[in-house]
Formats: sequence, structure tokens, C-alpha cells
Amino acid sequence: MSKDSENKKIPTAEELQREFESFVKDKYGGTVRFVTPKVNPSKDTPADAEAPPPKESFDLKFDLKPKDIKNYLDRYIIRQDEAKKALAIAVCDHYNHVRECHENPKIADTDYSKQNVIMLGPTGVGKTYLIRHVAKLIGVPFVKADATRFSETGYVGANVDDLIRDLLTQAEGDIELAQYGIVYLDEADKLATPPNLIGRDVSGRGVQIGLLKLMEETEVDLRAGHDVSSQIQAVMEFQNKGKVEKQLINTRHILFIVSGAFNGLDDIIKKRLNERNIGFSATLTAQDEMDDWLEHVTPQDFIEFGLEPEFIGRLPVHVVCQDLSADDLYQILKGSEGSIIRQYEGAFRAYGIDVLFSDEGLRSIAEKAHTHKTGARALMTVCEKILRDYKFELPSSSVHEFVVTERTVEASKSELIRLIEDDNYNRQHVIRECVRRYEENFRQKYQMSIHFDDEATNLICQRAIDEGRTPQEICEDLLKTYQHGLNLVKQNTGQFEFNLTREVVEHPDAALERWIRNSYAGKSKEGEETADG
Ligand code: ADP
Repeated sequence: MSKDSENKKIPTAEELQREFESFVKDKYGGTVRFVTPKVNPSKDTPADAEAPPPKESFDLKFDLKPKDIKNYLDRYIIRQDEAKKALAIAVCDHYNHVRECHENPKIADTDYSKQNVIMLGPTGVGKTYLIRHVAKLIGVPFVKADATRFSETGYVGANVDDLIRDLLTQAEGDIELAQYGIVYLDEADKLATPPNLIGRDVSGRGVQIGLLKLMEETEVDLRAGHDVSSQIQAVMEFQNKGKVEKQLINTRHILFIVSGAFNGLDDIIKKRLNERNIGFSATLTAQDEMDDWLEHVTPQDFIEFGLEPEFIGRLPVHVVCQDLSADDLYQILKGSEGSIIRQYEGAFRAYGIDVLFSDEGLRSIAEKAHTHKTGARALMTVCEKILRDYKFELPSSSVHEFVVTERTVEASKSELIRLIEDDNYNRQHVIRECVRRYEENFRQKYQMSIHFDDEATNLICQRAIDEGRTPQEICEDLLKTYQHGLNLVKQNTGQFEFNLTREVVEHPDAALERWIRNSYAGKSKEGEETADG
């Protein structure tokens, strides 16, 4: 033995693993994944091994009710009420069954049809978003893949079993948790075989067949045949232990959700309904929205569309997501908890800049996005386009706050120049927006709506600039006694919308006194004068 080799220390298993990983990464690039399944520590981990940090595992005491899930989803997802309901029920049924099987393994042997879901709906309306949030709420891993990614052979492109291995990656190697995960397969409509196709084997059909096993129950080997790293890991394990233990994931409790736009499916439904029930067309006409027809979908319609009967048979829950209107897109921006507006506010705040999105600005963004016909996805595209130059220029300017108005959306570049060059112009906009927000808060707090008209708003702006006070302080000062006074008017006349004019800014007490007096006198003419709309 040479001196050199004598001095060479034999590496530990961990060192070998690291060396091996870096070798494979160098040779095959970042596409190679390393997943080291967690094995039962009591069996395989030596007593002195460093204990892994405790990780929250899936709580099998699942006790959510469908309404809990719907309420949670309502915070993030606008509209799609029927979809949320159907999904909430399916998810509760599924995880209640999982819990029961865990508590009483005998149940696992009884017949049970898994509540796998097929979701229909155009792009960008919240299908993925719904499922992602469901998985997050329940605390199970979630993977999404496009059906078009798969090929039949499994060696060209990715194999459907890879979905399950991806779940394990998401579960950070926790096999038990991965077995309760959710697999979401988008673009399932692309797997449909065109009707009457004879002869040529279509890969879509093959993928559907491949999915059947997974959707029911099968055991997936964690070592993919085409995954170089896992095969070499197996060789190393064989050298270490003299045998290779199979690491399997059972798919019995994995929930499968497939989705797609299914363009043309509405025509199939229309045809069927009109053929079978002439009177039906009286309630749904050819002009009705696609969503309205999709509500009536049956497995037979999917089969006619080109899905395999066995495949659709394993997807008993049909969920339809509606197209989103411009107003829905506005609500997404304004009211949903995950609104991208928060993201923009954060991005500007990082430079010490406050961005205020005005209501009309949000409406313009929503309307512009709606013309893209890509659902809520377009919101980000539109905002990026409008605000890109703002993100570039403003951090190096003296602007510390600005408002996104309708004009920002319509003429973003010229507005940006004006914003930087004309400080007064910018200030006026900011103050106006602050007044609008004050009105909004007042409405929420006191269930009464106030609105400063243009003249009144201009006066407040001027005062804020002259006195160096915030519009908020000025409004609060003006309306100190208004909450109580307007309440009296409301009680006397039922009026709850108040238009605040110049008089309110100049003589707030006198204006209020007159309204109260008139309300007691029951002067309907005065009531009209004070009402806004
Ligand atoms: P798809 O229906 O094509 O799966 P996604 O769920 O991926 O569309 O939607 C893309 C993004 O648009 C989401 O990440 C979310 O930010 C937003 N979004 C889509 N629909 C809604 C909705 N109904 N409510 C709130 N946000 C939505």
C-alpha cells in the first residue's frame, strides 16, 4: 500500500453522500433532485445521531367543517362560491375518512370512493389558488403539474409517478405526510382523445391510464428508474448494508384534483340538454355564459369530450369556477387578503415611499386587466407595466408618497414625469386620497356615508398645505361633533348619506346645527339638500 493511500481517510457515509451529490450536480446540472426519505428513527438512527429538529406533522385529528374551510377561502378568493362549497365538502369528506382509517384501520378495507375532484374553468380564475389555500389550511403538501408535461413512457419527459415523488420533496422527506398530500393536475383537458380517433396511440390516453392507478391505490417507489441520483444512492446503500430497502409511498389517501378550461364542453352539454329536453332551452339559451352550461356537466359529457370513462369515473366531484368580471378583479385588488397591492406597497415601502392606490385607480387597473382575458393573472401584468418606471425612478427621487390614480393607469409615463417635477401636483393628489380614506373609515366606523364635494376637498387640501397638518387631522377637527349630530338626523329622517359642502369646512357647527333643526322640523326639502344621491 502506498503512503499516499495510507494517509487517505476513509470518508463517512455523510461525506460520501455530499461528495456524490456535488459530483452529480456538476455532471448533470441543477435538474437532478436529491430526496432522502425519512425513515423510522427508532429503527435506523443510531442512538447518538443528532436528532432532526421537530417538525409539525399532519394532524390526523382533522376536525374542520365545510363552513370553516369556506370561510377561510373567502378571505383570499373572490367569488367562486359554489366551487368553494363543493371543494370544502369534498376535502372534509376525504380527510374525515383518512382520520377514521387512521383510528380504525379496519375501515380502510371497506369500499370507499375517494372524493377526487375535477375542476372546470378558464385560466386565472383561482383554481390553483383555491387548492393551494386548502392544502395550506390543512397542512398537507401540495404539488401542481401540467398534464402536458407527461409522456407515456416515463423516460422521455416526466413520469406520472414523479408527482408523488414531488409530494415527498414538498413534505421535506416526511413519507407519512406525503401520503396525505394533494396532487393538482392542470390542463387535464389536453389529455382528451379526439372522438373517433382510430389507430394512432395518443399519449393523452396513456397518461390517463397511468393516473388511474395512482388515483386509486398504488405504491410508488421513491427511486425513479430515470432519476440518476436515486439509482446511485441505491448502489451506495447496497454497498453499505448489503441490500436495498424499497421506499414506497402509498397513494390511497392522496387527494387528486384535475382541472382544465375544457373549451367546447359547453357545446356538448348544450347539445345533450337541447336534444333530451326541448323545454330546457327556455331556461338556458345559447347566449348564456359557458359557466351556466357547465353547471350541468355529467360524466357522459366528459367522455364525449374525449376523456376515458375509467378516468372520469375516478373524479366524482365536479367543480365549476366562474369567469371573473372587471368588478370581480377590482374586488380582488381591493378586498382579498392576498391582493398584489400589498406586494406593491411593500416594494415601495422598502425605499421609504408610500404608494396609495385610489379606488378609481384600482378600477382602471381591473378594467384594463379584464380586456386581457386571462382572469386575475392579468392584474400583475398590468400593474407591472404601469409601475415599472415608478419602481425605477422614484427610489432615487425626492418623492416619498404618491397616489395611483386613473391617470396613472391611462398615462403612466407622463404622470410619472409630472409627479417628480411638480411637487404641488403630487401633494394635492395625496391629500385628496387621504380625504377619501377618511370618508371610507367614517363609513365603516359609524355606518353613515359622508362625502366632501370638490370644493370642500379643495379647501381641505389648501388648509393642509398652509397649516402643515395632515388631512386626517383637519377632517377630525371639522367633524368632531358630526358623528353624534348626523346620528340624530339619521334617526329623524332615515338619511344616512351626507354630502359635505364648502359650508361644512368653513362653518362646521353652523351647518350641522341647521341640519339637526331641519330634521326635527321634518323639512323634507332640507333633507334632500343634504343628501348625496
Ligand atoms: P387558475 O384558475 O388558472 O389556476 P390561479 O389560481 O393560478 O388561476 O390564479 C392566478 C392568480 O390570480 C392567483 O395566484 C391569485 O393571486 C389570483 N386570483 C385568481 N383568481 C382569484 C380569485 N377568484 N380571487 C382572488 N385572487 C385570484
